[in-house]
Amino acid sequence: MKIIKGKAVYEGVALGKIHVLKKQKEEIERVTVEDVAGELERVKLAKEEANRELQELYDKALAELGEENAAIIQIQQMMLEDEDYQEAIEDKIQSLKVNAEYAVSETGTEFAFMFASMDDEYMKARSADVKDITGRIIDCLQGDKKGRETFEEPVILVAEDLSPSETVVLDKSKILAFATVYGSANSHTAILARTMNIPALIGVDMNLEELENGAEAVVDGFAQELILQPNEEQKEKARQQIREELEKQNSLKELVGKETVTQDGKKINLYANVGSVEDVKTALENDAEGIGLFRSEFLYLGRNQLPDEEEQFRIYKQAAEEMQGKRLIIRTLDIGADKQADYLHLDKEENPALGYRAIRICLSQPDIFKTQLRALYRASVYGQIAIMYPMIISVEEVEAIQRISGEVKEELKAENIPYRDVEEGIMIETPAAVMISDELAKLVDFFSVGTNDLTQYTLAIDRQNDKLDTFYNPHHKAVLKLIRIATDNAHKEGKWIGICGELAADTQLTEQFVRMGIDELSVAPAYILKIRRIIRQIK
Ligand code: PEP
Ligand code: MG
Repeated sequence: MKIIKGKAVYEGVALGKIHVLKKQKEEIERVTVEDVAGELERVKLAKEEANRELQELYDKALAELGEENAAIIQIQQMMLEDEDYQEAIEDKIQSLKVNAEYAVSETGTEFAFMFASMDDEYMKARSADVKDITGRIIDCLQGDKKGRETFEEPVILVAEDLSPSETVVLDKSKILAFATVYGSANSHTAILARTMNIPALIGVDMNLEELENGAEAVVDGFAQELILQPNEEQKEKARQQIREELEKQNSLKELVGKETVTQDGKKINLYANVGSVEDVKTALENDAEGIGLFRSEFLYLGRNQLPDEEEQFRIYKQAAEEMQGKRLIIRTLDIGADKQADYLHLDKEENPALGYRAIRICLSQPDIFKTQLRALYRASVYGQIAIMYPMIISVEEVEAIQRISGEVKEELKAENIPYRDVEEGIMIETPAAVMISDELAKLVDFFSVGTNDLTQYTLAIDRQNDKLDTFYNPHHKAVLKLIRIATDNAHKEGKWIGICGELAADTQLTEQFVRMGIDELSVAPAYILKIRRIIRQIK
């Protein structure tokens, strides 16, 4: 038995077997080999395994996303069987007498480059598929499947760190808990854990090399510790805590269907934050009165190419229909910083949080932006969709957005495609936006405060940097004052204002937010009933 301390980003207790997620080595080593036939055989077996994985993915995609999207995986299966690709790998092993990993990696780089240099846009885009299948074969060769793995039974997932793109592809129903060596409480991976209602510990000082897959462990989010090979007494305590948590959640169920209203009659809109259409169901199960933040960028992660208009349209339409007339606020692509998609080829930056991200990408690459807006407006006739724009710092940006969205609507009109003039709002997550919120309030229908970024930019504390956790004060007066300024300015123009950053779920601040005049709070689904209980007790 061994106890390792960590920091809980989502409380709760889990007991189960651990599964260690090892990172693929950055550099593939070149090793001279004697047994050429043995290396050729290894490639053959790895390819067979990669093909099996792709088939599983294809079946899943076909069932969940339809034929058109599943076809992307079929293309990868065909590439895997491509004779030129295969011959190039074999040729390297035979002529250079090198290890299979090196031969596959070199071949992948050459083929990806070849595709990327083609004029035809479709062929160019295949470069990412080559990289993906190459990575998959190497994973199979190394017996390491990165974030793609599937588990027979739910596991406690242990890793150095988890990026949002690794996290979104995991099968949530098979994860009991996360425990990572690195990570910060405000990273998107932590946010995903909260949205997924999964106990999670970060900053766990463990050596992954010493951990065995299948070994038993307890993640205790309350005591903030990971217990490896727990004894019978610790296991029993964990089981007891899990039962108690369940009972607590069940006792909150009495609030389902009740209004979120203070004792003196002030109604607060209590909404949920989601990252996928599957989360919408969880939000409704937890009696969300709307969706205050649908982080659409998660649709863009963990894949090889941009989601096209049709795919996005289907997802937004499904979400809108499931909400059955309740407000569904979809935030436009907020990618960049910790949310990276390789296929966008974003440059490495010195200060990514202050960099090329979110609305800055959308305004610089209007094709990407317009595709998303077309999908959103088309889906708007199926429910009460509202659109929200992230990372705003100026009036000019809002005007540029309005020009582009105006063009999109004109195009739809010309094509006789129905759409609605939906509510359009902005995120208030930069001090600049707060300071000009009087002007911004005249231009938009609503504000939603992104306290995660607002805190980062106000306190000059990188939300990804775990070394700064001791300096990070989520209740800093400066942040609360900024929220108050934005609230007053929204109300002066008759606009509503919500909070969708993690602070919205901070029960120590609920009363203060209500007294400030906040109209909406949007939180991870699991917090909804807890916050409703507090609001209903406010006199
Ligand atoms: C925020 O910044 O508070 C927010 C809600 O957006 P994100 O956490 O996705 O940056
Ligand atoms: Mg933000």
